[in-house]
Amino acid sequence: MTVLPNSLHARDIAYQIHPYTNMRRHERNGPIVIERGSGIHVYDDQGREYIEGLAGLWSVAVGFGESRLVEAAARQMAKLPYYHTFTHKSNEPSIELAEKLATMTPDGLDHVFFTNSGSEANDTVVKLAWYYNNALGRPEKKKFIARNGGYHGITIASGSLTGLQVNQRGFDLPLPFVKHVTCPHHYRFAEAGESEEAFADRLAAELEATILAEGPETVAAFIGEPLMGAGGVLVPPRTYWEKVQAVCRRHDVLVVADEVINGFGRLGTLFACEHFGIQPDMLVVSKQITSSYQPLAAVVVSDAIYQAIADQSERLGTFGHGFTASGHPVATAVGLENLAIIEERGLVANAAKVGAHLQARLRAFADHPLVGEVRGVGLIAAVELVADKASKAKFDPPGKVGFRFFEKAHEHGLIIRAIQDSIAFCPPLIITEAQVDEMIDRFARTLEDIQAWIAAGMPA
Ligand code: PMP
Repeated sequence: MTVLPNSLHARDIAYQIHPYTNMRRHERNGPIVIERGSGIHVYDDQGREYIEGLAGLWSVAVGFGESRLVEAAARQMAKLPYYHTFTHKSNEPSIELAEKLATMTPDGLDHVFFTNSGSEANDTVVKLAWYYNNALGRPEKKKFIARNGGYHGITIASGSLTGLQVNQRGFDLPLPFVKHVTCPHHYRFAEAGESEEAFADRLAAELEATILAEGPETVAAFIGEPLMGAGGVLVPPRTYWEKVQAVCRRHDVLVVADEVINGFGRLGTLFACEHFGIQPDMLVVSKQITSSYQPLAAVVVSDAIYQAIADQSERLGTFGHGFTASGHPVATAVGLENLAIIEERGLVANAAKVGAHLQARLRAFADHPLVGEVRGVGLIAAVELVADKASKAKFDPPGKVGFRFFEKAHEHGLIIRAIQDSIAFCPPLIITEAQVDEMIDRFARTLEDIQAWIAAGMPA
């Protein structure tokens, strides 16, 4: 597209540095400026309509233009637009939301620390685990084990937990306190003929060998997304979580479930921990907690962790950690209203029901010559495109086809995420079966175009 001088597009190019963007490409092509949204749709400044197949960044559960969230924010802005939660101060919405989260989350998780973002929440997880083990007189027990393909954020600590090259190349990450183990993706990493259960056994054995090699007295925690999102919508092999949890318990290693994408209904259960039978010591939530109408994340911890860190804060005089906006009254008020909407409208049950329809519709593409694997649970799914179905060979270079798909989909009124050559879906939880059908039609039309482009030798 041509970028007109002094247009919004030209000013974006001139002044704004974009996350997750090839900046030189952005200078050439300019932005798509999204102007407004309604339900599962967003509209750009050229008047084009898109189905938001990724709910923004996996997050707008209740859809766009939800007036109840606007009103909840406005009410709270008028009453108390800001206050902090440092040094014994509190505010009503943050208290109510903390109580609500303690009630909603799996048994045993009862104490809540608020942050602005998922990355800050995972940095908080690392600091809590360190503070906890210092409190218990185990200053050596500080390492984290995470997985290749995992995503936990981009700050120095959370970006070290993340197991994706794109976040680490050029940034001198990860820091050495993190050890990464094999990605639990059967399609790519199982050996020929290995069952899901056997693959899970092998991964649990690898985890145990890693803990033993490092020394269990040096390993604080294991962190994972129950179902991996940004790494490609990767569903773990059957029995994986029960097996890795047993290993962690044997070596007194904390289990941290990062439900920043999974939490609040995405898999058709309130939390993915229920779906996979995980009993974490810490749970991380964000995104769908406010449908991203406000920035907010939280770490919910067990009573054992809370008691140890509370004692330590008394010994040291204070718990020296917290953000200006921890427990922000407007963000937490919007969170409360958003969770009320999710409950009143039965959106978790909707994710299960409409999610089953989405999974069935996508699995119908499994025989397509370009499709290597279709995977997902509830309202999160991915279709992995491959150069060769039989050998599972990737395209060369990986990601070229995915990026072309991502761009082409816009022409068909569809926003998806391309993760290398996997096409990810994560629509708002309010989506209906008829809207899923419309989304799949747009996906199918894009796939036809991509197939023709590949057949033509992938011209520039
Ligand atoms: N954890 C997970 C599982 C995520 O998906 C994300 C964001 N996609 C984060 C952490 C980081 O959240 P944020 O972008 O708010 O820092």
